[in-house]
Amino acid sequence: MSIADNIRAFQQELAGTRCRLVAVSKTHPVELIQEAYDAGQRLFGENRVQELTAKQPELPADIEWHLIGHLQTNKVKYIAPFVHTIQSIDSLKLLLEVERQAAKHQRQIRVLLQFHIADEETKFGLSWEEAETMLRDAAVQQLQHVRIAGVMGIATNTDDESKLRQEFGTLRGYFERLKAEFFNNNQEFSEISMGMSGDFRLAIEEGSTLIRVGSAIFGSRAYPA
Ligand SMILES: *Cc1c(COP(=O)(O)O)cnc(C)c1O
Repeated sequence: MSIADNIRAFQQELAGTRCRLVAVSKTHPVELIQEAYDAGQRLFGENRVQELTAKQPELPADIEWHLIGHLQTNKVKYIAPFVHTIQSIDSLKLLLEVERQAAKHQRQIRVLLQFHIADEETKFGLSWEEAETMLRDAAVQQLQHVRIAGVMGIATNTDDESKLRQEFGTLRGYFERLKAEFFNNNQEFSEISMGMSGDFRLAIEEGSTLIRVGSAIFGSRAYPA
């Protein structure tokens, strides 16, 4: 199966659902990203700022770039001119810096709140309480260049289906509670980003609207990311 074949298989799999594919291109060269683009893929995800800023100018301007990895506040400025969605918002400080940089460039940047749903200690993300506290902050009510569009989570790296379903269900539950408490009349708040190469089918069954898939499209990565 070529990259183009893989993209077409995902297009078929997602047809008629409300779930979209973010092709995770980290570690892969622009030639392979172009191949996916030529097969019709437009949403791409990268987890490192330096890699994203190096690739973006080499590729078509209508790609919707998603930053999916941990983002340091001092690096927001490098991606603010072009990034479409930052999926990894995990602090108020970061959110306010995205607002500041987006304003500088007179742009809107879409963001997702990243929640910690996995067992692993090391995975970044907010707890429910942290998210609530953040959204109650007066500064968040006044955001003008940031649109909070939903939630993102990374499940535990496991084959245990019931555990994965439970974690995906937890994230969907957070989404629904936030929607009810903070975004009731906001059509924009609509995304649940969950599911990767190993677990995207379960994630779709549990309500994912954005799956982030790398190795099932591009093959295994030459070096870990
Ligand atoms: C690398 C990565 C993915 C894609 O992982 P695959 O298993 O290759 O599909 C998804 N989400 C995040 C946050 C990642 O860093």
